[in-house]
Parts: sequence; C-alpha cells; structure tokens
Amino acid sequence: MKISIIGTGYVGLVSGTCFADLGHSVICLDKDKTKIKSLSQGESSIYEPGLDEILKRNIQNKRLSFTTSYKIACQTDLLILCIDTPAKKTGEPNLSNLKLSLKSISRDLKKDIFIVTKSTVPIGTNQYIKNFIENSSSFKINIISNPEFLKEGCAVQDFFFPSRIVIGCESKASREIMKELYAPLGLPSQKFIYMKVQSAELTKYASNSFLATKISFINKISQIADHANADIHEIKKGIGSDSRIGNEFLNAGLGYGGSCFPKDIKALINFEKKFKIDHSLFSVVEEINNQQFFIFYKKIIDAIGQKRLKRSSFMIWGLSFKPNTNDVRDSIALRLIRLLTDQVKHLYLYDPEAIRESHVYLSQYSNITYCKNAYEHMQSANALILCTEWPEFQNPEIKKLHSLKDKKIFDGRNVLNKEVILKAGIEYFGLGS
Ligand code: NAD
Repeated sequence: MKISIIGTGYVGLVSGTCFADLGHSVICLDKDKTKIKSLSQGESSIYEPGLDEILKRNIQNKRLSFTTSYKIACQTDLLILCIDTPAKKTGEPNLSNLKLSLKSISRDLKKDIFIVTKSTVPIGTNQYIKNFIENSSSFKINIISNPEFLKEGCAVQDFFFPSRIVIGCESKASREIMKELYAPLGLPSQKFIYMKVQSAELTKYASNSFLATKISFINKISQIADHANADIHEIKKGIGSDSRIGNEFLNAGLGYGGSCFPKDIKALINFEKKFKIDHSLFSVVEEINNQQFFIFYKKIIDAIGQKRLKRSSFMIWGLSFKPNTNDVRDSIALRLIRLLTDQVKHLYLYDPEAIRESHVYLSQYSNITYCKNAYEHMQSANALILCTEWPEFQNPEIKKLHSLKDKKIFDGRNVLNKEVILKAGIEYFGLGS
C-alpha cells in the first residue's frame, strides 16, 4: 500500500517508519526542510529507543522516503495527518498548522483520497477536513479518525504491540483500507475498535484525561500522606493491587508535563465551557498538578532556607518531560529550572539525551552549566534535585552523592531508595514518603 504521512514529528516519524517496516511504501512529508534533509540521510530528529535502526533499514530498502512537496505526497492512496495541535493561550487547540496543511492538500490533490487523522483534534475536526477539501477541490474525501496512543520513550514498541486501535469512520471502504493498513501487524480482531468519528475524536481526549486524573489523584493522596506520616509507596501497593485500579500512573511526583497531557486537559475543559457543561473535575486535575509542583519547590526552599538559597547551587538530574525521550516540550524540569535560576547561585544540569534540546529553551540564563555525566560538578552543588526518572538515576553511585555540600536529595519522582540514602547519611525529600 502507498501512504503519505503529513507532519513528520514524534508521531509522524515513528508511524511512518514503522508502517514502512510493515511493508508499506511510505512518503513522509514535513514543512521543515532541515528536518527532511537530515531524515533523508537517515538521521533521526528525535531520540526514541529502536527507531534509528528501523529508519536506516527502510531508507536503504527504499520503502521510506522524505519530502517537503505536497505534490509528491498527494500521489498516494492514503494521507495520514500527524500535524501538531498545540494549545492556544485560551486552552483551545490551535489548528492553524493543520489548516495550512489542508490548503496545501486541496491545492495538490489529483484524485479521491482517504484522509486519516492521527493528530489529536477537537470533536468535529474530521468533518471540517472533509468539508474543507471537498469544497476547495473537485475530489471526494473519506475521512477516518485514528487517534494515536503511542507513548514517547516506548513509541516503537507501542506501534508494533498496540493495546488497541481506535478507528472512527463512516464507510465500509474506510474500514477496509484501515484493515489493509494494519493487517501486517497480525493483530486479533478484538484489538480494532470501530466507532463514530466523533467518538474516536473524544476517545483520545478521554484517555489522556483519565491518565492525568489518575496522576493528580495519587498526588493528592501523597499530600495527605506527607501530613499523616504515611508512606505513598505502601499506599500505592495497597490500592494498585486491586485489579479494578491497577498500578500504572499511580506514582506520586512533582506533576505531569509534556506536549500531550496539559494541552489535552485544557482542550477538554475548553469543550466543556463551549458546551456549557460543568468543568470542575478537569479544572481540579490541572490545579492539583500545579499544586504538586509548588509543594516540591517549597520543600527545596524550606530545606535549604530562603536566605541561603542565593548562595546555593543545585545539580539537576533529568530535563526531558519523561525518561527515554529527548522531548522537553512543557517539561516540568525546565519549569523548575526557570523558577530557580533567578533565586540560586548556579544550576548544574544533566540529562542522558535532552541537553541539546534544552539549550533552546534555557539560552537566556547565564548561571547554568550542562554536565557530561550525572556526577560531573556534583561537588560544586549543595543538593541534588531529580526531575525525570531515567533508569540510570534510579540506582545512583551513593559514594559520589557524598560530595554534595549539604548532603540533601530532592526526589521529584519518588524513585530513589530512601532507606539506602538515609543510611548513607544523606537527607532525603520525596513526595508523600
Ligand atoms: P510534532 O510537533 O513533533 O510534529 C508535528 C510536525 O508537523 C512537525 O515536524 C512540523 O514541522 C510539521 N508541520 C506543521 N505544520 C505543517 C504543515 N503545514 N505541513 C507540513 N508539516 C507541518 O508533534 P507530535 O508530538 O508528533 O504530535 C502530533 C499530533 O499527535 C498532535 O496532535 C499530538 O497531540 C498528537 N499525539 C502526540 C503524541 C506524542 O507522544 N507526541 C502521542 C499521541 C498523539
């Protein structure tokens, strides 16, 4: 099957590369010429475990190519939209990139086509896409909503072993083409969930909002645990082992970030306001997430002392919004860094993959040093702050942590072994434990 990916970012690149690996002939389009040039040479624009190898293999076997030309991309049977849909200041999803892309498609389309939307889009957007292109070209469009559920950091794994594939479509032909697209995965039929287009659009927001709600729920319990001298790890075990609840997304920490949860919750609140529905639930989820950030920040200030802060330096572990990715968009770590830079002497930053990406967002600060490894400059810092739970941080070399001047560790993800750290004579500050 010949397919085109429109928008070759995190979702587009992973999807395009993996569809090529399944045997399809894939053209990935992006407006960013530099990105397309390096991707054509097999250089990935993102860090995603397993992706590099599949990318190179499929460029070599000529199943995968890259272009900035809509004329070329519009020649295939199926267009898959993976354009970014960030939040506007109002919380409403910004569809301007998507709309620009639709203009280019309708300009260069030469036949009837299937358009699949993987981007997370507000309810009604797929119908808008159909109307827009049919009104501005002479071709018929079959629209299909196929929201993407991949998780950055294990996106390749998620592509090949999806929990489910949600397909919102209106015609038999759309169903058939989606079956053909995913057939090489060899999935059992129960994995395919067919529904109305609007239901598929809302399913994506509902899914992300549920996970964000779970995180805010456990964070709220961790706030109570902090005051009650209870331990959030024990509580997690106690509730997570109930199969109706489950263990996932029950880790207390300094809050969720990234390019999806915050924007999708905002979008859902925005729909509720638009439909004049009470929006208290998701507003509280957002509020708790924000509280949690400041609770962690306050723990740092209280332990170091407001007066000593200006003379103190910190080592920060983790810059990406989650482990195993170099994505720093809406990263909580960067939010904390921005808040601290003005108040402290110096910050030493380390991340296994996201240093280059962080430069762009932190270039205005002069009191920042990027470290070559997790322990470089440890002796210059008063305390360590862990912001992202990369595996390499979870079993630290305790001896090296001894060089911290104040012997204090702030664990924003609750992943360090508190007992081991306390035993080593280092103070430990987690959330709810
Ligand atoms: P991204 O910013 O990484 O990628 C979007 C790409 O689209 C960029 O490379 C950009 O240059 C390109 N683009 C923008 N306008 C264009 C145009 N007019 N023509 C051609 N290319 C254009 O975004 P992403 O993280 O891949 O997310 C894409 C969509 O998928 C969003 O709606 C997001 O909410 C959703 N989503 C993301 C994830 C994730 O983990 N990142 C997971 C599930 C769903």
